[in-house]
Amino acid sequence: MTKKLFWEDPYLKECEAKAVSVNGNEVKLDRSIFYAFSGGQQSDSGTINGINILEARKNGEELVYVLEKAPDFREGDAVKVSIDWNKRYRIMKLHSAAHIVWFFFEKKTGKKEIIGSNVTVDKARIDYDWPDPITPLLPEVEENSNRFIAEGHEVKAYDDAEKPGRRIWESAEFKTFCGGTHVKNTSEIGKVKLKRKNLGAGKERIEIMLSG
Ligand SMILES: [Zn+2]
Repeated sequence: MTKKLFWEDPYLKECEAKAVSVNGNEVKLDRSIFYAFSGGQQSDSGTINGINILEARKNGEELVYVLEKAPDFREGDAVKVSIDWNKRYRIMKLHSAAHIVWFFFEKKTGKKEIIGSNVTVDKARIDYDWPDPITPLLPEVEENSNRFIAEGHEVKAYDDAEKPGRRIWESAEFKTFCGGTHVKNTSEIGKVKLKRKNLGAGKERIEIMLSG
């Protein structure tokens, strides 16, 4: 099992770890700060001992890192993991923002169920089964989201006592399950801009971008 330091402290930019297995260019570590694509959140970018990580995947409770080339370190060696902090921090802001927009969309419309969601370094998105263009709803959702963000609410992400490995995200009156990485305070997000995208056939997408 890889200890997920990105949950304990999502602000870590590098860490020491031990290589618990090295198989060609595939490496497993005892602990890591490098987030592997999960729950719609894009993987981090980064290196192990300076070698680029091409891919990170979840294998049960373990994370497997595929390196650009076979490393010169071996099983049992101490290694240094570094992540692209600018990318990660934008993902943290956008992921926390996506939850906030989702909650305010529900407050406005009563609609909670989504049919898809995704967070990348550039934008986050939330998809709904929704019969009409959502464009007229967005200004109010955007305004409410930005007001909440500016109010500087604490964001808590913590282990669910009822189910090991499950995580809870909470800010003010909002709460949901989430295993992603998040900012500690909504004020870090800055400001968001919402944009509608028509997916056709009664499906609507809200795109969330950082705007300052
Ligand atoms: Zn989430």
